[in-house]
Amino acid sequence: MIKDNIRYVESQIKESCSKVGRNSDEVTLISVSKTKPVEMLQEAYAAGSRDFGENKVQELVDKYEVLPKDIRWHMIGHLQRNKVKYIVDKVYLIHSVDSLRLAEEISKEALKKQVDVNILVEVNIAGEESKFGTDCEEAKNLVREIAKLPNIHIKGLMTIAPMVNEAEDNRIYFQGLKKLSVDINQENIDNVTMDILSMGMTGDYTVAVEEGATMVRVGTGIFGERYYPTNV
Ligand SMILES: *Cc1c(COP(=O)(O)O)cnc(C)c1O
Repeated sequence: MIKDNIRYVESQIKESCSKVGRNSDEVTLISVSKTKPVEMLQEAYAAGSRDFGENKVQELVDKYEVLPKDIRWHMIGHLQRNKVKYIVDKVYLIHSVDSLRLAEEISKEALKKQVDVNILVEVNIAGEESKFGTDCEEAKNLVREIAKLPNIHIKGLMTIAPMVNEAEDNRIYFQGLKKLSVDINQENIDNVTMDILSMGMTGDYTVAVEEGATMVRVGTGIFGERYYPTNV
């Protein structure tokens, strides 16, 4: 079933790519496995998935320990500075860097462990109050500042688009993130590339791919609904 879901999402990505003349090899499907048990990740792994997204440090580390080492782990959730040290040598990409202080902590811990860490700058493209992420204007400054730090490399931008009923409603935000990445790329900042655009989730990834996403983060569409314990 997980396998079927992955195949379906892959076929949708292909379709969106061909619609706009893109090569689907440019798009990485990240299986967002937060809250899901290891067995389900193993199923996705058996179906060929090698990119997994988690939003909690402890959960990522626990799964990292027991699953195959060729998995690329993506930290997609809000990251607290005091937890950076647990993941800098385990993650393939941190999608959720939205402040200089967080970037400085990542740089410091990466230097300590003698690793290089690739990151994305998270942009709150719709300016929603409830969301993490830097705003569009601030993003450019942030990129310039982070670029100066050792052992940390900016590879692109990430956004979490608003919750909408119609995926089409998010098209302008995906276009906005794409435009911002083109703008930043034109500045030719040392130690910065804008190769990665991480945007699109279960409800809107086809639109995101049409607008240039190179990574889509799909949870529900692969693993089904998430159930959070209600400990009242
Ligand atoms: C949970 C989550 C996703 C996946 O959401 P779905 O709607 O289940 O596909 C994607 N990105 C981030 C940052 C998430 O926290």
